[in-house]
Amino acid sequence: MVKLPVSIYFHIPFCTRKCHYCHFYVLIDNENGKEKLAEGFKLEWALIEPILFGKKISSIYFGGGTPALFKPHRIASLLKMIQGSCELSSDVEITLEANPENIDLQSMKEYAAAGINRASIGIQTLDPALLQLLGRLHHSNTALKAVETTFQAGIENISIDLMYDLPHQTLKQWTNTLHLIKQLPISHLSLYNLTIEPHTLFFKNEKALQPHLPSQEMSLAMIENAREELENMGLKRYEISAFSKPGKESRHNSGYWTGRQFLGFGPSAFSYWENKRFRNIAHLGKYCESLKLGQLPRDFEEELDPEAHRRELLVIRLRLMEGVDIDHFTKEYGELDPQTKDSIKRLIHDGFLTKNNHRLQLSEKGILFYDTIAVELI
Ligand code: SF4
Repeated sequence: MVKLPVSIYFHIPFCTRKCHYCHFYVLIDNENGKEKLAEGFKLEWALIEPILFGKKISSIYFGGGTPALFKPHRIASLLKMIQGSCELSSDVEITLEANPENIDLQSMKEYAAAGINRASIGIQTLDPALLQLLGRLHHSNTALKAVETTFQAGIENISIDLMYDLPHQTLKQWTNTLHLIKQLPISHLSLYNLTIEPHTLFFKNEKALQPHLPSQEMSLAMIENAREELENMGLKRYEISAFSKPGKESRHNSGYWTGRQFLGFGPSAFSYWENKRFRNIAHLGKYCESLKLGQLPRDFEEELDPEAHRRELLVIRLRLMEGVDIDHFTKEYGELDPQTKDSIKRLIHDGFLTKNNHRLQLSEKGILFYDTIAVELI
């Protein structure tokens, strides 16, 4: 039997406090909640385990929330649970998300011993005023030290997150952050632009923040600046917002961009499996109650329409700088509909896409205006 690679995601929703821009399902850190969640994970795993038969796991991701608030022994027991019933690929990538203020040498060593071989650290910015504005709990020095500590603990594959398009952010602050990260032993970096989402403190204060958001011109300058600086550091852009050293592209995220099946565990976790998409209920208590009754804790499930799904896969895959081999894509997912083919022709004509030897790629202009392409194709 061919063992198709799949990915596993665990959502650990606990944080010390909620950041001002955060729209994720987050609970304030508490031991009782973590105990409940650990129990829920076991029950959910037992229900899902049979469908994993014959699959090989290529990546496991502990995201949140702040998974580094879930003690190493808890992560170790989840990894043992997976290994008890599934085969992991020999080079499996196992990532732990962490915030700088929760990182210390001892616990990172324990995570490494448990099997974590990649860390994703939420730095966001190294500017003290902006850190405060975002409601982050770390100081810039803590962030720099956290990366060093993680590396010292033996987790040498390190990614960091940075944010741009922040209110009051200047180009000088941005270049200073880029300058400071040069000293860090990182192999990957993800860039996020701020979006102001409902149910956040930023959303409540949007009127006051709006005039201080960087202009589109400045935002483009920030991205261009980052691209140059990161490439000088040996971090090559391989996806619109992701940069890595050669061979250190995120295995887990690459799965999202290439249509790999994944199963999400924990409240609010999404899954994509056999042409269906489903989501767990975003409520720890209800998540646990449902599992105790032997029911999967889903609050949303959809069967994907083949044509719409094909278009969606194409659009997501185009995020990768390597683009899409259209012949290969068609063999795997079927012929594109005439309307999509026309849209592709138009986007090539307007300079958003290029096509060479059946390979469709974003042009420089397409990278900057990816959202326009996505709207046109979906
Ligand atoms: S640390 Fe991350 S998940 Fe937690 S509140 Fe802040 S942005 Fe949200």
